[in-house]
Amino acid sequence: MAHKELLARHRAVMPKWLALYYDEPIEIASASGRRVTDAEGTTYLDFFAGILTNAIGYDVAEISDAIRSQLDTGVLHSSTLYLIKSQVELAEKVAELSGIPDAKVFFTNSGTEANETALMLATQARRSEQVLALRNSYHGRAFATVAVTGNRGWSASALSPIKVSWVHGGYRYRSPFKGLNDADYVKACVDDLREIIETTTSGDVACMIVEPIQGVGGFTSPPDGLFRAFKDVLDEYGILFVSDEVQTGWGRTGEHFWGIQAHDVVPDAMTFAKGLGNGLAIGGVVARGDLMDTITANSISTFGGNPVSTAGALATLNYLLDHDLQANAAKLGSRLLGGLRELAEKHPVIGDVRGKGLMVGVELVGPEGEPNPGAATTVLNEAKAGGLLVGKGGLHGNVIRLAPPMTLTEDELEEALGILAQAVSRA
Ligand code: PLP
Repeated sequence: MAHKELLARHRAVMPKWLALYYDEPIEIASASGRRVTDAEGTTYLDFFAGILTNAIGYDVAEISDAIRSQLDTGVLHSSTLYLIKSQVELAEKVAELSGIPDAKVFFTNSGTEANETALMLATQARRSEQVLALRNSYHGRAFATVAVTGNRGWSASALSPIKVSWVHGGYRYRSPFKGLNDADYVKACVDDLREIIETTTSGDVACMIVEPIQGVGGFTSPPDGLFRAFKDVLDEYGILFVSDEVQTGWGRTGEHFWGIQAHDVVPDAMTFAKGLGNGLAIGGVVARGDLMDTITANSISTFGGNPVSTAGALATLNYLLDHDLQANAAKLGSRLLGGLRELAEKHPVIGDVRGKGLMVGVELVGPEGEPNPGAATTVLNEAKAGGLLVGKGGLHGNVIRLAPPMTLTEDELEEALGILAQAVSRA
């Protein structure tokens, strides 16, 4: 079969650590709406939206038209040294939506570069290489971002250019503070944060970086207000706060446009990528203007904010806002959570169902509540056999991650729940 031959070629020429789903990975040959079709002609409902990249889904006329119009100008990519109208318009929109006062925006090509930039901004502004990060985090694949990634599976090979201290809080289900009520959990995490600052740093820390909901870490859900309480402590020490919104931005969490807004925090900087491009490579940082301007050396990104990416991203953002996809994420997200919680009552292999909006995690466990990565692999494979693509992740590889395009319909949601019920019954 064609995909077997392609897989052999992939394995021969690409690194062995490059992750691919399924024993027999698929090649996506075409896509439309929320469905993708592989090279063999099998169609799947995509409940991972690429990798949360296709916020709106596939083959959306408004976005294709915007990209095509840009291509028709002949300016595929000239140079980001010149003015680019769609780039400026996109920056204006992102700055306004950020809620950060006097915000300025820098565009990159990925979430990794966005976080590298934010860490560079903070460490330069504070003249400190000390950074706080959450355990079980994931922030990217370059030096500083791997350094602040608190998951050995993704970070074991990195030498760190910055000094990182690790804080509890994100992953409540397997935290030593599990079982406490929200207020006590927040207090225990805040006490931990203070102790970490006092005992493992000089007190002179550049920033703390957090994912409001940890993505690769298994769609964890810290209680609302945790990061407000953290921010109050950070303010005492003059430590900057960076929210990594690469997965949680653009309304995906339903109740808010940015994940951090659930905590009533206005960060000093936010980073974004994935959904904004709806498949195009674009990311960026939006930060307080005075902070953004602290980098004094001249700098450009050759491709960051190029005309094709920004034209497509602007169309994506307009589509998201015009169709109020945040509201759809809130509405369908609560049905998804409810449906999965009903499933959990019947199947003890489901230890936890959590999330917000269309970002829902299902943690699979063994008889003693231990992580059960085998069950997650079974669900992944069985879901595929039933025509549904889902994500897998978590510190122990035992969390099924559900994050369909935000244009999802009710019928598609019910279809997915049916397939998941079958898949879980076999785990
Ligand atoms: N930050 C978060 C929260 C992510 O989930 C990811 C990627 O999964 C990144 C950063 C890195 O983004 P990219 O893969 O675009 O470099």
